[in-house]
Amino acid sequence: MGTLMTVSVRAHDRTASESAAEAAIASVERYDRLLTTWSASGPMAAVNSSRPGRAVRPESELMVLLGEAESWAERTGRAFDPGVGALVDAWNLRGTGRIPAPRELTAALHRVGPAAIDIDPQAGTVTRHVDGAWLDTGGFGKGAALRTAAGTLRARCVRRALLDLGGQVLAITAPGEAPWTVAVAHPARRDTQVATLHLANASAATSGNGERGVVVHGVRVGHILDPRTGRPAPWWGSVTVVSADPLEADVLSTALYVMGPDEGLARARDLPDVGVLFLVAHGDALEACRNEAMGRWLVEASPDEPVPLRACSSSTPSSPLERRYR
Ligand code: AMP
Ligand code: MG
Repeated sequence: MGTLMTVSVRAHDRTASESAAEAAIASVERYDRLLTTWSASGPMAAVNSSRPGRAVRPESELMVLLGEAESWAERTGRAFDPGVGALVDAWNLRGTGRIPAPRELTAALHRVGPAAIDIDPQAGTVTRHVDGAWLDTGGFGKGAALRTAAGTLRARCVRRALLDLGGQVLAITAPGEAPWTVAVAHPARRDTQVATLHLANASAATSGNGERGVVVHGVRVGHILDPRTGRPAPWWGSVTVVSADPLEADVLSTALYVMGPDEGLARARDLPDVGVLFLVAHGDALEACRNEAMGRWLVEASPDEPVPLRACSSSTPSSPLERRYR
């Protein structure tokens, strides 16, 4: 997943803690092998290099995840869409970056989404309809991996655990245990803490277009793409999403970043169980806005190094993210 993982575990003794930590790492590594799109072999390579028009049948664990990703694409109006691979190529985000000509961008957009690469959970198949279309698992892989690692740790009855995958953390606490304290960084200055979360049996994912990405002719091309326009989502700050389900947190942080603070906050208002915090940069000042649910996790006390924070003033009427919820 191109990231570093930090694992903290407390079980009833040292041996149990160490073996639980190893098991959690093994779970994440297994999902890395299942979901990677950086290798020429493996189950995702089989999907992404399949002959156009011919349905492939991924192993069931992978198929369930791809079906879940597709269902999130539908629920987010395709702001989140695993079928963005052709756009990753058009902007050469895995290389040094490039700005595609308008004609290329139009062509790439035709290779994005379900008409180009179709995930069919009922049939248990994925079909590429055009060359150049492929599924990028980068928007939900960390969340999926953290969810499976959480299952591994809970099965071993650990009392406390914190898994940090860089950009997304998972906090596990047994009844009676204090929550974990997790810092939310300034979207442009990662070493500055601007907010604090208290997490117990929840995962927090942050998305932003500032840190990763490439610079082409002095223009920063972010790694989060808007599948609806084919362009990188503009830089505006970051969004942090808290959910009991790490995959949901991962998907929604990407989707809400693409939507931007106005549309995103309007849609986040009606998520009763999902915390959303937008940090919107205005020069040196940061505007912070959150939905009501985020109040459960956000610690209102100021961090060590305070930055000017303003409350958001959004007048956008709320339109709920289609209610799912299992
Ligand atoms: P995240 O850091 O979780 O927001 O995910 C960003 C990664 O997901 C990118 O590096 C791409 O691999 C992939 N990605 C980019 N844009 C999208 C999108 N709109 N929907 C789904 N995945 C995306
Ligand atoms: Mg994500």
